[in-house]
Amino acid sequence: AKREGGARHRLFHPEMGEEVLARQRDKVDLRAAIDSGQLVLHYQPIVDLATGRVTGAEALVRWQRPGHGLLGPMEFIGLAEETGLIVPLGNRVLLDACEQAVRWQDRSIGVTVNVSTRQLSQAGFLDTLDEVLTTTGLRPKGLTIEVTESVWADEVAMRTLMAVRDTGVRVALDDFGTGYSSLSYLQRYPFDVVKIDKSFTAELGESGRTAGVVRCIIDLTRVLGAVAVAEGIETPAQAEWLRVAGCDYAQGYLFGKPDMAENWDVQPSVVWAA
Ligand code: C2E
Ligand code: CA
Ligand code: CA
Ligand code: CA
Repeated sequence: AKREGGARHRLFHPEMGEEVLARQRDKVDLRAAIDSGQLVLHYQPIVDLATGRVTGAEALVRWQRPGHGLLGPMEFIGLAEETGLIVPLGNRVLLDACEQAVRWQDRSIGVTVNVSTRQLSQAGFLDTLDEVLTTTGLRPKGLTIEVTESVWADEVAMRTLMAVRDTGVRVALDDFGTGYSSLSYLQRYPFDVVKIDKSFTAELGESGRTAGVVRCIIDLTRVLGAVAVAEGIETPAQAEWLRVAGCDYAQGYLFGKPDMAENWDVQPSVVWAA
């Protein structure tokens, strides 16, 4: 059914009404969750393939939603993006992750945070980042911001990202190869880190063609003066192949699943040996 009248002309198709109401409830609940501590961060280790040492941690958000259990980001980031709640949500994630990064500074573990293009294109982003670094006392080098290739399509977000980089915070290109990359963008705008998407690394043992592509991404990353992080590593064979191919870092269930920071205290600092 299409809406034709004004606000006065409300249509309640029974099923559609259900959907709209459920969505409205999700939105209200998510809004409340941001301020009431229901968003929790799990951290996944990032490993230096030459030494097997954990050098970083990616913060991945979850929603401990009463009556629903622990929800993964795929279940609510989309809604947050559509409703604009991604901005307060992202700010909360940034602050929590930086507080954790300060606790890990003496272990030389840097923290990596996913930032959506929409969040980055908000006028206040740089001020928020500056405030978070100041209040937590985190050195900019201890923080990496991950963006996806959708950032290329947004000029404001791209300019903000380069300003972020000027502050000393490192920037990473996430899920590389799955979106709209252009070599001319890559050449023009510097990134510190390129993350090779798991859709490539998953096929490493199976396809010689994929292996060739991954080798090229690693070489390209080096030419651009960035470091490569391979995602989704689940087997020792994948890790060993990547190490030999010259990939600097890797992340995946082989080294550790995303987990609460508290559980990191009992983990060894070296998690893999070639
Ligand atoms: P991503 O940034 O590509 O994060 C990696 C995802 O792959 C995570 O899923 C992680 O749990 C999963 N993963 C890691 N290692 C392995 C592996 O060895 N095998 C397999 N099969 N999967 C692995 P998760 O936690 O469900 O996050 C999904 C996505 O949600 C993230 O993808 C990221 O794009 C987004 N996301 C997470 N946290 C945030 C956030 O705070 N803000 C924003 N804007 N997006 C976030
Ligand atoms: Ca990421
Ligand atoms: Ca990724
Ligand atoms: Ca991904």
